[in-house]
Amino acid sequence: MATKKVEIVVQPRPAHFVGDGFRVHNFIPSGPRLDMKRMDPFIMLDYNSKFNFGPTSTPRGVGVHPHRGFETVTIAYQGKVEHHDSAGGGGVIGEGDVQWMTAASGVLHKEFHETNWAKEGGIFQMVQLWVNLPAKDKMSKPQYQAIANSDMANVDLGENGFIELIAGNYQDQKGPATTFSPVHLMNAKLKSGGKAEFDFPANFNTGALVIEGNIVVNGEEKVPTDNFVLFENQGETFTIEATEDSVILILSGEPINEPIFPHGPFVMNTREEIIQAFDDYNNGKFGYLE
Ligand code: MN
Repeated sequence: MATKKVEIVVQPRPAHFVGDGFRVHNFIPSGPRLDMKRMDPFIMLDYNSKFNFGPTSTPRGVGVHPHRGFETVTIAYQGKVEHHDSAGGGGVIGEGDVQWMTAASGVLHKEFHETNWAKEGGIFQMVQLWVNLPAKDKMSKPQYQAIANSDMANVDLGENGFIELIAGNYQDQKGPATTFSPVHLMNAKLKSGGKAEFDFPANFNTGALVIEGNIVVNGEEKVPTDNFVLFENQGETFTIEATEDSVILILSGEPINEPIFPHGPFVMNTREEIIQAFDDYNNGKFGYLE
């Protein structure tokens, strides 16, 4: 087993608003060397770093919009999001929870701060990740996985802390999310001085986002809060050591290696399929959502 070295540490880009409820730093696909192809199957990563939203009786968020061709994964660290889609999926994503929505052939959905949470306001911190689908699954039926924090597999690392497994594997444990291509997604919750080792195939596109705290990767590369680490596609193993209590989102996925043709909320393989997506959307084939 060879060491998987750090390719680049990416600082958060200036934040922008998605709707009026998500103040995000985009890492994928606009970060240096973090385009869709490089990070395949992770084609988008928006990170709402800690931001204080004031109390309001009109919840902030993003109104009805379509998606086709991929999955949206929302990971809530602080704050709560209410979600509804035209396939009948919906619910509240609470602190520590994950919502894994397979848009596939197409859904309309909307994402807002949960009403009662919005009334109080407070610190909001969230990740939205888009996971691409293989061509053969892009037009499959939409589905929705609500993954409560208590559903996640916990891998106890003793005094180092623990791994909260969302999808894929860590050691001999398996996360609850079902995926269409091999994806490992987890939160490493390490105590100050705690250490964890990770092991993914060399060809898997692999990165880590520091949600809380400060870490040192492979004993040499310091990565502060809100920074993203991209790993090389050589070597399998890397270590993360927390220099204070830390939370790190780790993602590693096998590249799908098919053409990627994105346009706004649609990510298909060809231009023709994007035109079809607009036609279907305009003809009401994504269903109805108020
Ligand atoms: Mn959306």
